Amino acid sequence: MQDIENKKMRGQIEVICGSMFSGKTEELIRRLRRAQIAKQRVEIFKPAVDNRYSDNEIVSHSEQKIPSTVVETAEQILLFSSEADVIGVDEAQFFDSYLVEVCQRLAEQGKRVIVAGLDTDYRAVPFEPMPQLLAIAEYITKTLAVCMKCGAPANRTQRISNTGDRVLVGATDLYEARCRSCYEAPED
Ligand code: ADP
Ligand code: MG
Ligand code: ZN
Repeated sequence: MQDIENKKMRGQIEVICGSMFSGKTEELIRRLRRAQIAKQRVEIFKPAVDNRYSDNEIVSHSEQKIPSTVVETAEQILLFSSEADVIGVDEAQFFDSYLVEVCQRLAEQGKRVIVAGLDTDYRAVPFEPMPQLLAIAEYITKTLAVCMKCGAPANRTQRISNTGDRVLVGATDLYEARCRSCYEAPED
């Protein structure tokens, strides 16, 4: 972590990934708060699709929050980050593959880019563009939730509803964390 927070650092990409409820947003907020304490200029983004709790804040399931800017496209992250030292992006899986290019460009400008997102969808299939971001990141953190059936460390997101849409925004009403053995693959 020393490395990650060195003030004179060169640009870098950090990815925080895992299932729902695994603490990705909490960890993102923790890192961004530390950067703010260090008086670095911080810009925080989330995609327009994720309006679950608040329009202008990132909110964790444990009710931690930090102000953020809602963007429609990855390109807007680039446009709004020119003055920033540190850029945070939550729910990265809801952006298209251009996010990968945006993160690369920001890191090449010497900025610290911290991206959090679901690494797999409710079918346990890798959720683009997370695999591409993981491949190019300097630092990767994989967070695990607690399985709601057996209490084991959980890296899967069980959808408890019958829609086949990949994107269905919701929380404990629609999803729960499950371990590999308690996870039940959807039929569709
Ligand atoms: P994520 O962004 O990965 O969905 P959050 O950071 O928003 O996760 O929330 C993590 C918090 O969710 C935990 O600290 C805990 O308070 C709460 N939580 C609810 N259900 C679970 C679970 N099954 N496993 C772990 N944490 C859970
Ligand atoms: Mg989250
Ligand atoms: Zn389990």
